[in-house]
Amino acid sequence: MSRQEGGGPWGNHGFPHVQLTEVERRKSAAPAPAGWDYAPAPEARDVVTLRERYGHFVGGEWLEPQETYATISPASEEPLAEVGQATPQEVDLAVRAARDVFENGWSALPGSERAKYLFRIARILQERSREFAVLESLNGGKPIKESRDVDVPLSAAHFFYYAGWADKLEYAFPNRKPRPVGVAGQIIPWNFPLLMLAWKIAPALACGNTVVLKPAETTPLTALLFCDVVRQAELPPGVVNIVTGDGRTGGALVTHEGVDKIAFTGSTEVGKAIQRELAGTRKKLTLELGGKAANVIFDDAALDQAVEGIVNGIYFNQGHVCCAGSRLLVQESIYEPLISKLKRRLTTLRVGDPLDKNTDVGAINSRMQLDKIEELVQSGRDEGAEIYQPPCRLPEKGYWFVPTVFTNVAQSYRIAQEEIFGPVLSVLTFRTPDEAVEKANNTMYGLSAGVWTEKGSRILWMAEKLRAGVVWANTYNRFDPSSPFGGYRESGFGREGGRHGLEPYLRFDE
Ligand code: NDP
Repeated sequence: MSRQEGGGPWGNHGFPHVQLTEVERRKSAAPAPAGWDYAPAPEARDVVTLRERYGHFVGGEWLEPQETYATISPASEEPLAEVGQATPQEVDLAVRAARDVFENGWSALPGSERAKYLFRIARILQERSREFAVLESLNGGKPIKESRDVDVPLSAAHFFYYAGWADKLEYAFPNRKPRPVGVAGQIIPWNFPLLMLAWKIAPALACGNTVVLKPAETTPLTALLFCDVVRQAELPPGVVNIVTGDGRTGGALVTHEGVDKIAFTGSTEVGKAIQRELAGTRKKLTLELGGKAANVIFDDAALDQAVEGIVNGIYFNQGHVCCAGSRLLVQESIYEPLISKLKRRLTTLRVGDPLDKNTDVGAINSRMQLDKIEELVQSGRDEGAEIYQPPCRLPEKGYWFVPTVFTNVAQSYRIAQEEIFGPVLSVLTFRTPDEAVEKANNTMYGLSAGVWTEKGSRILWMAEKLRAGVVWANTYNRFDPSSPFGGYRESGFGREGGRHGLEPYLRFDE
């Protein structure tokens, strides 16, 4: 039977050929739209209920803080809540609570029992994912589509993943008799508040430790909401303790005698200070610090895909990413077409309200971070780099920075050497693979890198030569709980994620 006769797939759906042509003709007569305007698509803010004031979460209870400060929304500068600034005495109470439950029950619990709690936490995070996503965007400034699709699901995935290891430690480390370390002091930054919490707490608990965690000063709210999850999961009081505050609180945790291990993610400067502080003590230490990753594009790469990878590499989370692809290395022969595609793509990025589902680039996390970005961008201009910023209308209140590309960058410029931690890309060029490797490795950091080429052999060759903890090939910023993450050189030491991520939370009687 022919299509015109109404049979076959077309006929069954009532779209005979004649009608289709009519539809097409009518469509082509309509004027082509001049541009795309996105109507606002705000995520409901009322899924989050904030308290006026939060204390510290110690031994399963809220401890009334001695001092407080206001945490704000960086997109509007409005105060969201008062939170505690933990004193050394309050940190001490948290460490004691963690020690008490470690010695009186938790560390002796069979792994299969600990796993049940981790599974519960993972499930509750999934159930309350919308609430967590909205709060993360509200307090941190990141676009809701990122907190909804990346931060929260990956956080739950970490708890699921490490729940699976809790009763298999003997198999992960055969003949090494793994035992928990004790009380872990964990200090996290503001760029991925909930995800960094998950990276820290999930493996620590899976190994039988207890924790005292300090979120960053500017982004404490999802960690405080997590305390609700801990209670809902009926985790024994004291296994997870959260103390909020600034660097002084972090310092008190680092130096506390009752802490057996420090896990830190943040700046290289503070990481070095912590390492100096702990040198010669019995405390274990892992440091996940800064980066200045090279994203290397060879002339045989699929250019449009590479442009998406570049954008994801540096503008994801406003560039507040330790492994951001902040140095773009482009093979000279494709420099012109690639940069013109990239600039065109930049004009389509939507900067604005983090709670709008259309937003690609949200608010800068704090006034201080914005000042740092502005200062480094000015240095790029002064040193002679060429700046490109797409036309962009920024909200009047809050902290914002237009996605930026610097071309004509020399390796010695500060914007090619220092971590900007903002939506700013520095472009350099190379001619040969050897030159690409040399330039990519010309940094004090060694956290991550990207390679774009269609040749598998070149990917493997580059991965071997690049001095970076993670090398992505034809993709960027891709995370999975089963994959270890961490750096070389001034990017720190120790691994988080995967089986490797268990080791820092264990000691071995060999
Ligand atoms: P910090 O290294 O200061 O902050 C990380 C965490 O450490 C926060 O919880 C912080 O508290 C805490 N902290 C600060 N001082 C001490 C101390 N002396 N002892 C113990 N803990 C401390 O990073 P910043 O937030 O100041 O950001 C500065 C720069 O660091 C950024 O511009 C960026 O370049 C880089 N950075 C890198 C990150 C990464 O993942 N690699 C993450 C964050 C920042 P508080 O929040 O109160 O300062």
